[in-house]
Amino acid sequence: MTDASPLARLIRDLITDDGPIGLDRYMALALGHPAYGYYHTRDPLGRSGDFITAPEISQMFGEMIGLWLAETWRLLGEPAHVILVELGPGRGTLMVDALRAARVRPDFRAAIDLHLVETSPVLRARQAETLAEVGIAARWHDTLATVPAGPVLVVANEFFDALPVRHYQKTERGWHERLVGLDGNQGLRFGLAPEPEPRIALTGPNGSVLEVAADGLRVAHSLATRIATSGGAALILDYGHTASGFGETLQAVSRHGFADPLQRPGEVDLTAHVDFAALGRAMRAAGAVVSGPRPQGEFLLALGLEARAHQLAAAKPSAGDDVKAAFTRLTAIDSKDGPGMGHLFKVIAASQPGLQALPGFVDSVLA
Ligand code: SAH
Repeated sequence: MTDASPLARLIRDLITDDGPIGLDRYMALALGHPAYGYYHTRDPLGRSGDFITAPEISQMFGEMIGLWLAETWRLLGEPAHVILVELGPGRGTLMVDALRAARVRPDFRAAIDLHLVETSPVLRARQAETLAEVGIAARWHDTLATVPAGPVLVVANEFFDALPVRHYQKTERGWHERLVGLDGNQGLRFGLAPEPEPRIALTGPNGSVLEVAADGLRVAHSLATRIATSGGAALILDYGHTASGFGETLQAVSRHGFADPLQRPGEVDLTAHVDFAALGRAMRAAGAVVSGPRPQGEFLLALGLEARAHQLAAAKPSAGDDVKAAFTRLTAIDSKDGPGMGHLFKVIAASQPGLQALPGFVDSVLA
C-alpha cells in the first residue's frame, strides 16, 4: 500500500508493532489524530464538503434551539450566570442562530458565559469567525472536563455520532471484539480478537454484532452527573435508534455518499448511529431526569418551527420555496430534496431534578 494516506501508513505501522487495534482506537485516530485526523484537517460541512447538518440547512434550526435555551433558562429560575456549552459546534452556525433568536430574552443573553468543546483547530477558527458577529466572547475546550463549574445549558447536534464505538461479534465461544488488523497486502481489514470478552453476558445468535458507544456513554454520564449536581440541562440531537439491539451502524461518508470505513482513514467521515436508549440509561444512572427521545420533526414543530417558517417566507417571498424545502427536510420522514431528518433524527434531554416539562418534549409549551 505505497499510495496509502499518511494516516493509513501510521496505523499500519502501529498494527505491525503492537498487533490489531480496537475499532474505537481506529475511529479515534481516523477522526482525531492531531496531524492527520479527519476533523483536524478540514471543514467537512456543507454542500461542497462531505455532509450537511440541520443548522447548515436552515437558520430556523438554530433559532428553535435558541428559544429552547431561553425557555429552559427560565425554567431553571433565570440564574444570573449560566454556562452555555456547545459540544462539537461545526461552523458555529447553530450557536449564532440560537443567540440571535435568544435576543427576545436580553436578560438570558446577558447571563451567558459561552464555552465551546471542539478539538479541531480548523473548525475552532471557523467558529471564531462565525461568532464574531454576535458580540459574546467564547472560550474553547478539548473536553467538557475543563469547562468551569456552575449551572449549565448544553447543546450537542451531530456530536455523539462522531464518537468512537466498539464492536463485538458473537461466536459459539462468546463475544469477540472486532479489531482492525492487516491483510496479506498490508491493507487494513477487520478481524476478531481470538479470545471472547468475559464481561459480556448477553445471549444472541452467532454472528450477531453488538455496537458499544464507549466514549459517547462516558461523555453522557459525566454531562448528566454535572447537571444532577450543579444544575442545568442538556439537549442532544442526532440520528439513531430509540431501542437498543444487535446490529452495526458504523458508516463512512465522503462527498455525500457512502465509502469503505477502512479505506483512506483520515479522509472520510466515520460515524455510528446513536443508541438513544443507552444514552438515556447512562444519564438517568447519573441522577439526571431524561426527556425523550422524541423524533426531531415533532420536537421542532412543538417549538414553533411552522410559525417561524411562515414568518420567514412572508418577510422574503423570493426565498419562500427554499424555506419550504428546508422545513420539509427538517421535519419530514423523506422529501424530494433528500432523506428527511424528521424521523431518523431524534432529540433527548437531561435536566436537573424538579423542573417543569422541558420545551419541545410536550406539545404547546411555547405555543
Ligand atoms: N454541530 C455541528 C457539527 C457537527 S460535526 C453541526 O451540526 O453542524 C461534529 C463536530 O464535532 C465537529 O465540530 C467536530 O470537529 C467535533 N468533534 C468530533 N469529535 C470530537 C471530540 N472527540 N471532541 C470534541 N469535538 C469533536
